[in-house]
Amino acid sequence: MESGTENGKRLLAEELERRFSRRGALRARLRRAVQVLLWLGVVQTTALGKRAVDIAGAILLGVLSLPLMAPLWLWSNARGLGLDRRPRLGRWAVPYREWQLLLPDSRLGRLAAVLHLNAVPALWNVLRGDMSLVGPRSVAPGEVSMAEHLVRRRHNVRPGLVCLWWIRRRANIAYGTEAEADAEYVDTRTVKGDLAIVLRALPAMLYGEGIASASDEVTILGMRINNLTMEETLDRLMEWVDGDTPGQLCFLNADCMNIAFHNARYREIINAAALTVADGLGLKLAGKILRRDIRQNVNGTDMFPRLCAALDGRGGSVFLLGAKPGVADAVAGWIRERHPALRIAGTRNGYFTAEEEPGVVRQIAESGAQLLLVAFGAPRQDLWLAENMPRLGVRAAMGVGGLFDFYSGRVPRAPLWMREIGMEWVFRFIQEPRRMWRRYLVGNVVFLWRVLAQRLRGG
Ligand code: UDP
Repeated sequence: MESGTENGKRLLAEELERRFSRRGALRARLRRAVQVLLWLGVVQTTALGKRAVDIAGAILLGVLSLPLMAPLWLWSNARGLGLDRRPRLGRWAVPYREWQLLLPDSRLGRLAAVLHLNAVPALWNVLRGDMSLVGPRSVAPGEVSMAEHLVRRRHNVRPGLVCLWWIRRRANIAYGTEAEADAEYVDTRTVKGDLAIVLRALPAMLYGEGIASASDEVTILGMRINNLTMEETLDRLMEWVDGDTPGQLCFLNADCMNIAFHNARYREIINAAALTVADGLGLKLAGKILRRDIRQNVNGTDMFPRLCAALDGRGGSVFLLGAKPGVADAVAGWIRERHPALRIAGTRNGYFTAEEEPGVVRQIAESGAQLLLVAFGAPRQDLWLAENMPRLGVRAAMGVGGLFDFYSGRVPRAPLWMREIGMEWVFRFIQEPRRMWRRYLVGNVVFLWRVLAQRLRGG
C-alpha cells in the first residue's frame, strides 16, 4: 500500500515531468524553427553573396578587358566573324544563348584563344544571370541527358565561365569523371571556394590542353614514355595481375630524367620497362615544348588508392617493400582500414645489407603477392626491381619513391589546391629545402633547358 504523502509526491513528480517535457518539446520545436530560419538565411546570403560577386566581378573584368576586347572585336568583324551566340543549357536545364567572340584561325587568333578572350563576351551572360563566374561547364542542348544533369547535381546552379574540371584537366590531374567534379563542386561550393578556383584558373590557363592530339607513345630526351591516362594505366596493370605476363612500371618525372641523363643502366631499364608513365608538371611542360602532349600526370601517390581499390575488387594481394622501419606497416594499416579484402602479403623496410638481400627476395616470392611496391627512391628502386624481377614471382611491380612516407602519415602531402596548379614540388621543397633544392630549383631548370635544346635541334 502506498501512503497518501508518497502518492502525492509521485503525482507531483509526474505532473512536473509532464510539464517539463511539454516545455522541452516546445523548446526543441522552437530551436528547430530557429535552425531552419538560420539555414535559410545562410543559403540565401550565400546565394546572394555569390550573385553579388558575380555581378561585381563581371563588371570589373568587363571594364578591364575592354581595351583588349574592343580592337579584337573590330578585327574579328573585319574578317566577317564577330560576335556569336551559341545555345547552352543553364540552371534547371533552361536554355540560354551564350555570347562568344569568333576568332580567326591565325597566330593572333590562336593566342587570343589560349587566353580565352573568345569567352569574355559571356560576362554579359553572367550579368544577365544565365551564368556565374564559377560553376560547372556550360553544356550544349543534347550534350548531357536529364539523368546526367541529376547525377551532376547541376540543376540548381548556374554554369560557370571557370570550372573545377577545367582546372584539373589542365593540371593533368582530372582522374575522375567530369560528372564527379561537377557534383563535388555543387556539394562543396562557397564564395571563398569560388575565389580560390578563379585564382587556380590563372596558372591552369597557361598549361593548355591538347589531350586530343596526343599519341600513344612519346620520346623525350631519348626516353620512351607510354602516354596513358591514369585509368588506362590501371587497366594495363590489372591485365598483368590477371594474365600470365608480369610487368614492371616506371614513373618518370623531371628528376628521374636528370638521373637517367647520366646513368646509362637506368636509361636502359626505363626504355625496357613494360610501362613507363609521365609523372608531374615537368614532363607535361616538356611535352608542350616538344609538341608531344602528355595526356595525364600519372604519379604513384594519386595512383595508389585507385590501385588498392582495383585490387580489392578482385581479391588481390600486395607486398610493401621500402622506407624506414615501421613505415610500410603503417601503410598496411591504411590499406586494411579501407580495403579489408585486399590481402597484405607482407611488408619489409628498405634498409637491408647485400647479404640480407636474397632473404628479402625469397620472402617476397614466398608471400605469393601479386603486386609489389618498392619505395627506395629513384633510381635504386627501379634498378633493384629490374634485376630481381625474375625471382620475385609477382605479377606487377613498381618503384614508388616517397609514397609510403605519405600514406603512413609520416610526411604530409601537398593539399589538392596546390596539386591543381601543378605546384606539389613547391610544397615538397618547403618541407625539405636542404634535400630538395638541388632536385627542384636546379633540376627542373636543367631538365627544361635540355628539352628546349632538343626542340632547337629539331628533335
Ligand atoms: N629508402 C629506403 N632505403 C634506402 C634509402 C631510402 O627504403 O636505402 C626510402 C626512404 O626511407 C624513403 C624513400 O626510400 O621512404 C625515398 O623517398 P624519396 O622521397 O627520396 O623518393 P622520391 O619520391 O623523391 O623518389
